Amino acid sequence: AETYGIREWGNQYFDISAKGEVVVHLRDGNKTKAVSIPDIVRGMKERGMQLPVLIRFGDLLRWRIEELNEGFATAIREAAYRGKYRGVYPIKVNQQQEVIEEVTKYGRKYHYGLEAGSKPELIAALAYMQDPEAYIVCNGYKDEEFIDLALYARKMGIQVLMVLEMPSELDLILERSKKLGIEPALGVRIRLTTESAGHWSESGGEKSVFGLNISQVMAAVDKLRDCGMLHCLRMLHYHQGSQIPSIRAIRNAAVEGARVYVGLVQEGAKMGILDLGGGLAISYDGLKSGSEGSSDYGTKEYCADVIEAISEVTDEAGVEHPDIITESGRAVVAYYSVLVINVLDINRYEASGIKRLPKKPPALLKNIFDLRAKALGNGANPSREYIQEIYNDAVYYREKIRSEFNSGKITLRQRSMGEELYWEILTWVSSKMQEAGHTSDQMDRLEAVKTDYYYGNFSVFQSLPDSWAIDQLFPVMPIHRLGEKPTRPVVLSDITCDSDGKMDRFIHSQDIHSTLPLHDIKIEGEDYMLGIFLVGAYQETLGDLHNLLGDTNVVSVRIEGGRLKYTRELEGDTVSEVLTYVEYEPKELIRRFRVLAEEAVVKKHISARERFEIMEAYEEGLRGYTYFES
Ligand code: PLP
Repeated sequence: AETYGIREWGNQYFDISAKGEVVVHLRDGNKTKAVSIPDIVRGMKERGMQLPVLIRFGDLLRWRIEELNEGFATAIREAAYRGKYRGVYPIKVNQQQEVIEEVTKYGRKYHYGLEAGSKPELIAALAYMQDPEAYIVCNGYKDEEFIDLALYARKMGIQVLMVLEMPSELDLILERSKKLGIEPALGVRIRLTTESAGHWSESGGEKSVFGLNISQVMAAVDKLRDCGMLHCLRMLHYHQGSQIPSIRAIRNAAVEGARVYVGLVQEGAKMGILDLGGGLAISYDGLKSGSEGSSDYGTKEYCADVIEAISEVTDEAGVEHPDIITESGRAVVAYYSVLVINVLDINRYEASGIKRLPKKPPALLKNIFDLRAKALGNGANPSREYIQEIYNDAVYYREKIRSEFNSGKITLRQRSMGEELYWEILTWVSSKMQEAGHTSDQMDRLEAVKTDYYYGNFSVFQSLPDSWAIDQLFPVMPIHRLGEKPTRPVVLSDITCDSDGKMDRFIHSQDIHSTLPLHDIKIEGEDYMLGIFLVGAYQETLGDLHNLLGDTNVVSVRIEGGRLKYTRELEGDTVSEVLTYVEYEPKELIRRFRVLAEEAVVKKHISARERFEIMEAYEEGLRGYTYFES
């Protein structure tokens, strides 16, 4: 557990069993049960589903919704706050139908609502929001259709709040409202001046593309007053950015937001609601503080500080406590899914031990051969200087051998022997440096000998887009064999043929490293399985079809009456489906390939029987999973 930090980033949801397997804690009635993730995968395989698979735990979603809502309920009670908490889940963070269904189901008792940032999201939200006391907050750019839908929904008794993101939106909303004879409930989004750190902070500050500055807010207030509709302005909204690492920044923003809120009340707007947007962070790396993947506060502290900051400002101004909305997405849904992949292959340097050179070797090959003998012959404690000298000579000879090869003086076979000897010497250097506890800052080529490449059955671009695009760290670890010590330092590559398709930043041993300790494996036999955790937020739909690797298989599980139940199984994309996304027509592909096959029969390259078998293989390929099948 210490190696991979699972007790830190796993919160209370993931742990390691006595059998050395990762378990997830799921609730069965009032009891919590530890369920082995490898067992879930085994059961899934027996049902005919292959890796890679995304496993969803609806129970963890329920747990998170409860934690957030109970956190605010407690903070409100303890501070004798007079407003209510009415959180909304931002659909964009994970739009899958199953997520929205579960969020609205588990959130019902808290009147937990939805945030829609686009027309499709509003259309989804309207079909799932059955609670007249919960809000639907509409952010994002709004056209006439979007506005009309929001107004109609209001008439039906659904609490839709339309947020002004740009000054120009107000005219269109007022025009449509007049035409349909339905008054809108409006919010206004401001750009905060409070600075917050983190990857996504620019989506909230003065540089944000969304939101009005204070003079634009005042212009909107004046316009509403002029047409007698200032009572429609009900909410102030801001969004600081996602994954805000520091509670101080959260608090400062709440103070600034509350001040603007008070100002709007003093201007005569009806108000009543303050929406703090998202930003509640989770710990991806389990480190205590100071990293972008972490935070210096928990949900309880977040709720208490926000309530305290808002009540201080409003009490001082003698303004009623507003109801509070937050739009936490990441914190609600990140734990919900885990990607399980199998390792397909490994690539590591292993010395074959060249015994002798061919007759009349080139001088350089002889030099590097003798250098190996000199290095390996020196078993006792060589000095740092001596090791450095061996390293420098090996690098020098290898470069010379390469350049002589390029000018045609050394054959391919001779070069290959030179490379073997070079790697063997570097392996010796690496082990001697390690034994003596020396640092190897000036020996950057040692990294390569120390690192194994494990090829995982997944695509970073499809399943972990933020790992590739913004270097976000996700916890990765084996889900079994955890009673054994991992001995290999590994960089994890995916199966796209893109050099960016890899993971080389990992959290382990309480720090961030460029390799992950994994077990030595045999490729034949039982799958070696890795879990990539906390992938429930933002990863599912931001992913792309690089190399035409599509959606993975998905299973949803829960515990019922003490037994594991697979509540939903979704097959990942087939080859034929991903080809359709990029405008191929599978029937046309088969037709074209059949023409080619028939020509091959005519030219007697293949028999008619072989044509049949080849066409079967082609069509089977089209029906298959885009990932490696075994
Ligand atoms: N609300 C708005 C307006 C956003 O842009 C975002 C995402 O950045 C969120 C809420 C969700 O933020 P988070 O996932 O950090 O809670």
